[in-house]
Amino acid sequence: MRRKLVIGNWKMNGNRAGNTALLSGIVAGLNDFGADCAVCVPAPYLAQCQAALEGTAVAWGAQDVSTHASGAYTGEVSADMLLDFGATYVLCGHSERRAYHGESSELVAQKAVAALEAGLTPVVCVGETLEQREAGQTEQVICAQLQAVLDAVQPEQVAKLVLAYEPVWAIGTGKTATPQIAQDAHRFLRDCVANKHAEAATAVQILYGGSMKPENATELMAQPDIDGGLIGGAALKATDFLGIIQSV
Ligand code: 13P
Repeated sequence: MRRKLVIGNWKMNGNRAGNTALLSGIVAGLNDFGADCAVCVPAPYLAQCQAALEGTAVAWGAQDVSTHASGAYTGEVSADMLLDFGATYVLCGHSERRAYHGESSELVAQKAVAALEAGLTPVVCVGETLEQREAGQTEQVICAQLQAVLDAVQPEQVAKLVLAYEPVWAIGTGKTATPQIAQDAHRFLRDCVANKHAEAATAVQILYGGSMKPENATELMAQPDIDGGLIGGAALKATDFLGIIQSV
């Protein structure tokens, strides 16, 4: 039985005072909801998360990682640096990084490898644009994004991946995928993993992301292949974030 996991992706939001309020609100409201939870925050706030969340049930992580271990890579942050601040997770290949920073699936795969080698859990994001969905290319697109990662990581590491299906047309738009659309994509992704890694496929957690809110989370989370959520906007308010975790 896979455990549910809810991760808040703060994107480029927050400040120290606001974060303190948000994190303490989450910690105060968290009961044993039966789901794991984490926040992926801008790198400068990792230390703040470590101070606020150590010893609580909330894990923390980053939104990107370098493929390199150290050296002359101005502006980059290595997996070891994230670990140094107690991070557990790192997002790899969020659609905003693919779109605005030209990250290819091969680069995303190298980031996932770097994360795994260091002992972080990569949350590999895949998803199609509206244009691709309307052209009937959804499966082809998300399979190729996933396959690049499966080809790059060691076979015994596949079960340690977390996947996130985030249809680009559902991100920040208020247009959530229907539970059936999401379930179909999740099932398809799990089958792709199962092609060569049957055992890992049953263990890998696949999160849904895209306008998930307390109002639509229950139905999404009830789908057999949806193992949690990757939450953007609704992760910036403690009551909304807790509402989603509670819907599990
Ligand atoms: P929203 O929940 O704001 O649609 O964002 C989803 C997302 O991109 C999480 O990574």
